Amino acid sequence: MTTVWSGSGSRIDATDAIRPELTALTDEQKHRVLRQVRRRHGSCRHCGGAEFLVGEALYLGFLFLSEDTDAYMVALTCTSPRCFAPRTGIRLSESEL
Ligand SMILES: [Zn+2]
Repeated sequence: MTTVWSGSGSRIDATDAIRPELTALTDEQKHRVLRQVRRRHGSCRHCGGAEFLVGEALYLGFLFLSEDTDAYMVALTCTSPRCFAPRTGIRLSESEL
């Protein structure tokens, strides 16, 4: 585990710090993401589970030429304890967050 120092000089573990290219979502935004997952009948492609934890959002627009300029990839983690590859994501527009 890498140790980093926050701007205030206190020590934090790197695993607790959010990477600068990621956007943290509010609880309300996470609820909207889960609503979009259900609306699209999203399921885990590894185990078929339909329950997810919502993580951070990665901005895709502008960085990738084929993406809409307001596109984000939102991290999802399948909550099934039997899932062997629980990490996935959903592409959403900014208005859906
Ligand atoms: Zn799964």
